[in-house]
Amino acid sequence: MSIAEDISQNRTAILNRIDEAAQAAGRSDDRPTLVAVSKRQDATRIDAALAAGQRVFGENRVQEAQQHWQGRREDVPDLVLRLIGPLQTNKAADAVALFDVIETVDREKLARKLADEMARQQRSPRLYIQINTGEETQKSGVLPADLPAFLNLCRGELDLQIEGLMCIPPVEEPAGLHFALLAKLARENGLNRLSMGMSSDYEIAVQLGASSVRVGTALFGARD
Ligand SMILES: *Cc1c(COP(=O)(O)O)cnc(C)c1O
Repeated sequence: MSIAEDISQNRTAILNRIDEAAQAAGRSDDRPTLVAVSKRQDATRIDAALAAGQRVFGENRVQEAQQHWQGRREDVPDLVLRLIGPLQTNKAADAVALFDVIETVDREKLARKLADEMARQQRSPRLYIQINTGEETQKSGVLPADLPAFLNLCRGELDLQIEGLMCIPPVEEPAGLHFALLAKLARENGLNRLSMGMSSDYEIAVQLGASSVRVGTALFGARD
C-alpha cells in the first residue's frame, strides 16, 4: 500500500475511534478535533494528510513549522496550525505570525510577550495554557495550584482571552488521572476547551472530555 493510502486509512480509523469514544461518553454532538501532529514528518506524508482532507495540524517547533507550512499555507486557505511545543519568548513574534492556536502559554514572561506581539501584529491566535499536571520538574507548564493566579494575570492585566487547557501526562502514569485533573481545572476556572490525548491514549482523553486530541505516529507512522 502507498504512503498516501496508509495515511488516509489511518485517518479514517482514528476519526471513527474518536466518534465511537465520543458517543460512548454521550457527547455525539460535539465531535473532538483531530490535530495531526506533523513534527518530524516528511513532505510526502504531510501532503498525503492534506490530500486525505486533514486540515488541523500540530507542530512543536516554530522553525520547523515555518518550513512545513509557509509554502503550503496559500494553497490551503482553511488550514489551522496549532503550536503544541514549548515557546521561547524570542520566537513569540514568529509564533503569533504563523499559528492559529498557541497551546503552550505557561509563564508570565511569555504571556506578556504574546500580548505585546498580538497587539503589534493585530493578530489573535487562540490561546491555551499548558498545565504540568504531573508536577514534573523537567516539564513545562503551569502548576495546577498556580492556575487561578496565572489566569487572573492573563485575563485581567494582559487582556488575553484564554480558550482552554492543554497537558502532557507523565509517561509512567495512567493518563486518565491527568486528563480528569485537567477537566476539573477547566471546570473550576470557567474554561471549556481541553487539548489532551496522543496516539496511545486519545480515546481515553475523548471519554474524559477532550475537545481536541494530538495524534502523530498513529496517523503518519513513526517519526524520523
Ligand atoms: C509529539 C507530540 C504529540 C504526538 O505524539 P504521538 O504519540 O506521536 O501521537 C502530541 N502532543 C505533543 C505535545 C507532542 O509533542
